[in-house]
Amino acid sequence: MTQPIFLVGPRGCGKTTVGLALACACQSQFVDTDHWLQSKAGRTIAEIVEKEGWETFRALETETLKAVTAPSSVIATGGGIILAEHNRGFMREHGIVIYLCAPVATLVERLEAFPEEGQRPTLTGKAIGDEVSQVLAERDALYREAAHHVVDASQTPEQVVSQIVTALRLACAS
Ligand code: ADP
Ligand code: MG
Repeated sequence: MTQPIFLVGPRGCGKTTVGLALACACQSQFVDTDHWLQSKAGRTIAEIVEKEGWETFRALETETLKAVTAPSSVIATGGGIILAEHNRGFMREHGIVIYLCAPVATLVERLEAFPEEGQRPTLTGKAIGDEVSQVLAERDALYREAAHHVVDASQTPEQVVSQIVTALRLACAS
């Protein structure tokens, strides 16, 4: 498998966690667009958004997506990357896109346990349960539109990796 694999889905669906495990199983490079962007900018996403706004962050995110896309890579993307039609098109054209789909309750439980506010600044200003539910309602169709495959991300990371490997019939060691 040389085509890049893009993992998409809302905050807490496991893009970073599953991405690392998938890359390990497939002996691929792992890149996380949020982490890459933060280390390049020397600031957290929350700081970029606070100082320069969401529009600037989204532009940096698109640049990051293009910069990190390479063969034999698993790429964990930011939850909002699918908002831009050009990002959805870019990922579909350059690789295989997997939507890690999980119910609101699962996402809320994970985000409450590990909030990581620096990396996940509030999107709506609402309480976490309301925010997750609103954001998922707005974005679910876009995740599905971007994705070549949808997997059940409420399972354990190992099971999610296994679903992806099966879906792609990857020759991975998992
Ligand atoms: P994302 O990158 O999509 O925002 P993360 O990979 O950072 O999500 O996961 C958010 C939190 O949920 C982390 O604390 C992680 O350990 C946990 N987590 C992720 N995937 C799973 C899973 N499949 N089962 C249980 N916990 C998970
Ligand atoms: Mg992540």
